[in-house]
Amino acid sequence: MRKYIFITGGVVSSLGKGLTLASIAMLLEKKGFKIAMLKLDPYLNVDPGTMNPFEHGEVYVTDDGVETDLDLGHYYRYTTAPLSRASTATSGQIYDTVIKRERHGDYLGKTVQVIPHITDEIKKRIVACGEVSDAEVVLVEIGGTIGDIESLPFLEAIRQFRYERPQDCLNIHMTYVPYLKAAGEVKTKPTQHSVQTLRSIGILPDLILCRCESSLSTEIKEKISLFCNVPAESVFDEVDADTSIYEVPLMLERQGVTERICKQLGLECSQIDLSEWDAIVETIKNPKGTVTVGIVGKYLQHQDAYKSVFEALQHGAIAAGYALQIKSLESDKASDIEGCDGYLVPGGFGERGWEGKLEAAKYCRSQKVPYFGICLGMQVLVVEFARSVLGLSNANSTEMEPQAQEPIISLLSEQENVEDMGGTMRLGAYPCLLKEGSKAHAAYGSKNISERHRHRYEFNNRYKELAQKNGLQLSGTYEEGNLCEIAEIKDHPWMVGVQFHPEFKSRPTMPHPLFRDFVKAMVEHHEKKAHS
Ligand code: GLN
Repeated sequence: MRKYIFITGGVVSSLGKGLTLASIAMLLEKKGFKIAMLKLDPYLNVDPGTMNPFEHGEVYVTDDGVETDLDLGHYYRYTTAPLSRASTATSGQIYDTVIKRERHGDYLGKTVQVIPHITDEIKKRIVACGEVSDAEVVLVEIGGTIGDIESLPFLEAIRQFRYERPQDCLNIHMTYVPYLKAAGEVKTKPTQHSVQTLRSIGILPDLILCRCESSLSTEIKEKISLFCNVPAESVFDEVDADTSIYEVPLMLERQGVTERICKQLGLECSQIDLSEWDAIVETIKNPKGTVTVGIVGKYLQHQDAYKSVFEALQHGAIAAGYALQIKSLESDKASDIEGCDGYLVPGGFGERGWEGKLEAAKYCRSQKVPYFGICLGMQVLVVEFARSVLGLSNANSTEMEPQAQEPIISLLSEQENVEDMGGTMRLGAYPCLLKEGSKAHAAYGSKNISERHRHRYEFNNRYKELAQKNGLQLSGTYEEGNLCEIAEIKDHPWMVGVQFHPEFKSRPTMPHPLFRDFVKAMVEHHEKKAHS
C-alpha cells in the first residue's frame, strides 16, 4: 500500500518545513523507497507566477512549465522525486477547478461546499500525485501555519484522508521551541498550544519536530510528549544548522527520525550510507579559501528571491572546495561594482537597475572578470556587447525601450513583424544544441542538453552574423526557430550568458556544470589577483 506523510507547521512561519520534508524524503529515497512530493499552498493565487518575489520569494519552474513555490526547489536539491504539475496545488487552483466544474453543471444542481467538494478535490490531488509517479511514499507539505483560516480546508482534507486510510498515513508537526533568555529556559507552551489547535481540528500528530537553538533535553521532550499526547521517542529536535542547510538530513538521521517513521508506517528501514552528504558538509566547514561573487539584482533584500541561484552557487563552491561570499549589488555606479572575483546577473523583469547591470557586464568584459548571466543576465551581456563592441550605441532590449533603434533583444513577434503574438511566456524545458569548442560545451561535456525557461524576450537573429563576426559566440540554440539560448564572449576567461534558468537543476551532490565552471573561473581569477 502507498504511504502518505503529511507535514504541518505551527507557532511561527519560516520554520523550514519544506527543507525538512525534503530531507526526510531524501533519507527515505536512500533507504530504497520510490517517493513523490506535493506542496499544498493555502493562498488564492492560481499560481505563484504573478506574485512579487519581494513577498513570496523565487518562482520555481518545473520541466512541464509550471510556475511553482520555491519549496519545490528544495525538493529538487535533496531528492530525485519527479516534479511536475502534479507536485503542487494552491487553494486558488483547487477552487478554480471546483467552480469551473460547477459552471459546467457537473454537480447536477447540488449545493457546492468546502466540505465535501473542495476537500474532495484536495484529496484527489494527493492521490494523483502518488499515482502519476507510482510512488511508494508520498510526502505532502501543507503551507502556512496552524491557526490560519486559509489552511483549514487542507487540514480537514488530510484528516479525512487519514480516516480513510488509517494504516497508511503519518502526521508530522513542526514547531518552534524558543529559548527565553529572561527565564533562562526553553519554552514548550507555544508547541502545546499549536498541537491543541491541531487536535481540535481532528489531527493527532505522530511525530513532533521542534526547531530550536540547541538540543532539547530528555526532560523537555518528555514534557512535550505528555502535553501533546505523543510518545517521547517521537519528539525530535531540529537545531538551527550552523554551517549549512545540508546538515539537516544528517541531523535527522542521527536522531533516528526516519527509523521512527518507517516503524510507524510498517516500512522496512535499512541502514544507509550518508558519506556523500558528510563530505559536502565537511567541505563547507573546511574550505580552501573564499571567493566573492557580486550579484547584481533587483530583489536582493528578500533573501529567498534568488534562492535557487544562491544554492546553485553554493554547489559550485562545494565542487571547488571553496567558501562563497555573496555581495549584493544594487547600485548603478561602476565604482561600487568593482572588487569581486566574479559577477552574476540573475533573471529579472523590468527596467529597474538595468543600467547598473550593463555597467557590471562592461566591467567584466573589459577587465576579463568572470561573468555569468542568467536569462535577463544574458540579455544584459548581449546589449552591452552590442553597444561597446558592435558600436551600436542605441542597442537595447525592447522590454526596457519599446522603440529601441537597435532591438537586439526583442519579442519574437517584433522580429517577425507579426502583431499580437508576443507577450506569452516561454515556460518549461526546451532542448538546446551546443556548439563544440564553446565554454558551454566544455561545461556540459555533451552536445544535447535540456534546460528550463521563463521569459518572453529573445536574442534578435537579425544581429546574429554581425555579433558572431565580432567575437560573440552563440554557443547554444533551440533548433525550432533557431533561437539563441547561450551567448559567450570568445576572447574572455569565462563570460557566459544563458537564456534559461540552470539554477533550477543543481544539486549539492551534482552541481550544475555551468555553476561549477563559473565558480572555478572565479577561483582562478582570485588566485591570479593574489599572485599579481
Ligand atoms: N525579462 C526578460 C524576459 O522576459 C528576462 C526574464 C527572466 O530573466 N526570467 O525575457
